[in-house]
Amino acid sequence: MYNLMDGKSLAAEMRIEIKRQAGLFKSRCGKEIGLAVILVGNNQASQVYVRNKIKACEEVGIKSYAYYLPANTAQEEVADLIEELAQNGNVHGILVQLPLPAHLDAEKLLKLIPVQKDVDGFSEENIGKLCMNKNCLAACTPFGVMKILEKYGVQTKGKKAVIVGRSNIVGRPMSMLLLNADATVTICHSKTSDLKSECLDADILVAAIGKAKFITADMVKEGATVIDVGMNRDEQGRLCGDVDFENVKDKCSFITPVPGGVGPMTITMLMYNTVIAANRSVN
Ligand code: NDP
Repeated sequence: MYNLMDGKSLAAEMRIEIKRQAGLFKSRCGKEIGLAVILVGNNQASQVYVRNKIKACEEVGIKSYAYYLPANTAQEEVADLIEELAQNGNVHGILVQLPLPAHLDAEKLLKLIPVQKDVDGFSEENIGKLCMNKNCLAACTPFGVMKILEKYGVQTKGKKAVIVGRSNIVGRPMSMLLLNADATVTICHSKTSDLKSECLDADILVAAIGKAKFITADMVKEGATVIDVGMNRDEQGRLCGDVDFENVKDKCSFITPVPGGVGPMTITMLMYNTVIAANRSVN
């Protein structure tokens, strides 16, 4: 019998605590915690993400500063805004919603966000610190996965963790977080020669691939914990993960559903990171 790891209820539980922390900050510092969100252009998915982030801020008592810039905004203009926000003492976190329009150099712009305000955890410095197991702001999605594992008491120490996917925002930071939590980590990708046998070795299998139902039952060890980061559409247009949930679940001791697993944790971890950044700014 498998256990469903409910990210939605964990996210709700965490938001209550984040709200309490935001209240404590306000009474201690006489101002609210602030998160600046910059959206350039009209990408529809990005608009939804930004809306959800602002809604989450409202829910947890973080003040949001939203900047909606037209698609043709010049590099210097975005750079000036980031530099201004970097200096602004009311802003504890800065987030540039990706992807940016093609004419903008995202890498250059992200470098302007001070490491202590990089609440997405995407900067080279934060990623470097994560690799060295130093205090940092960790990327929200994999950080959320760690909270799910913790909540359900899934041991990582000495366990074999296999991550399928090596992107900078999910796979790589996920591998570092698991390594820092004393797992023995294997990272797989599209050039891995025998993916099935790698996956079959996993006590903890994390799928961050972006291909609907890619992880099938024959790739999962009996009793494994399976974390599905994927967000895809199936043939009927319904949201589904990278794991063939219906056929995989009975082999697992723990598994996250899609929707309702990793997804709801991502924005919650953004709020969490913003609280960490704010508290560090005054300590
Ligand atoms: P990317 O496309 O950046 O990375 C996908 C990774 O999967 C790559 O490393 C790629 O390998 C690997 N891959 C692709 N095909 C195969 C294959 N056949 N065998 C083995 N590995 C393969 O995706 P992201 O990391 O950004 O996202 C992954 C998934 O997670 C997506 O579905 C995305 O929507 C979802 N997501 C969900 C979030 C949430 O909040 N729940 C947040 C972020 C992402 P290679 O490097 O060799 O190309």
